[in-house]
Amino acid sequence: MATAGKVIKCRAAVAWEAGKPLVIEEVEVAPPQAMEVRVKILYTALCHTDVYFWEAKGQTPVFPRILGHEAGGIVESVGEGVTELVPGDHVLPVFTGECKECAHCKSEESNLCDLLRINVDRGVMIGDGQSRFTINGKPIFHFVGTSTFSEYTVIHVGCLAKINPEAPLDKVCVLSCGISTGLGATLNVAKPKKGSTVAIFGLGAVGLAAMEGAKMAGASRIIGVDLNPAKYEQAKKFGCTDFVNPKDHTKPVQEVLVEMTNGGVDSAVECTGNINAMISAFECVSDGWGVAVLVGVPHKDAVFKTQPMNFLSEKTLKGTFFGNYKPRTDLPEVVEMYMRKELELEKFITHSVPFSQINTAFDLMLKGEGLRCVMRMEE
Ligand code: NAD
Ligand code: ZN
Repeated sequence: MATAGKVIKCRAAVAWEAGKPLVIEEVEVAPPQAMEVRVKILYTALCHTDVYFWEAKGQTPVFPRILGHEAGGIVESVGEGVTELVPGDHVLPVFTGECKECAHCKSEESNLCDLLRINVDRGVMIGDGQSRFTINGKPIFHFVGTSTFSEYTVIHVGCLAKINPEAPLDKVCVLSCGISTGLGATLNVAKPKKGSTVAIFGLGAVGLAAMEGAKMAGASRIIGVDLNPAKYEQAKKFGCTDFVNPKDHTKPVQEVLVEMTNGGVDSAVECTGNINAMISAFECVSDGWGVAVLVGVPHKDAVFKTQPMNFLSEKTLKGTFFGNYKPRTDLPEVVEMYMRKELELEKFITHSVPFSQINTAFDLMLKGEGLRCVMRMEE
């Protein structure tokens, strides 16, 4: 490759300041160092997590920064020690990695790699503590090891899943975060039984993917909970049988759900990021066997409060990053589910814009319109 080992100049969307529109800039992307890979991003989507770190209201501000973590691309070049990937491989970046060597990677239970687990405050590569992005020599920070809002980005090899090259990247890019996260939260963590009742809090792409998982598991009643009444129509396509808007009730929504189900739902999956919804999701599950799974990214100072009697009453509370999938080991198989038509992705992709219109994707998410907006790097 003509570009290997050289600095690449390309377009990236830079967040210079919290809450200010991103600016498309020409950035310099350094070659990958040991155990790193430089990836040509072809498609990237916007997830609500990017919006939280751009707003930086409940999160540590790290600026200037290149956000983005839901994407699909092709390996441009690899650094020293990388043997599993070669230029031309199709990859999905993942914000939480898999070194394959640590106790967590060796455990069947965990996907929280000791070396590469999500770190939202770090803006540099773990190898040398430096950024690979500069503008006129001034460093621009990375985001969760992926920074996909750039035509080229540098990623640790452990944060890249090598996927079937036949898989269309404009579709499977949404498996790099949101859809796998929601699906796995239900299938791998909540594990609802056939015929059970499942509540999903937050009907964005992550929540609707969790709903898809509930449908696959054979849940017979699926209750969607959202503050936005417009979300119900869309959710019906994902198997939503009942809808509850907390704003329509004077009592806490957990009480509404417990009454509707004569004692509580069998499982609840929270995909809002709102602390009150997290508490409601836990308190609405049935005594004896109910399981609640937290997926939403909370405000950094949020505190979860509930009465200990809820635990004594045999309710279980869990949480997950990336639906407990190990990115390198498990994600290629989730892509195959799409290839075998066992999982539809098209219905999650409600908007598609050229990369230069990235701020439109932010506006849509802030307005609560649509699910995923996919941006294409080639205009
Ligand atoms: P989204 O904005 O598209 O969807 C969130 C939905 O929640 C919206 O429809 C909104 O109206 C609803 N909502 C907000 N507050 C609510 C409340 N109090 N009660 C009921 N509904 C409420 O976002 P998304 O991209 O689908 O992401 C959902 C959440 O999942 C975010 O918090 C995101 O950061 C998080 N996330 C976590 C992981 C993980 O690995 N744990 C991965 C991806 C995303
Ligand atoms: Zn995400």
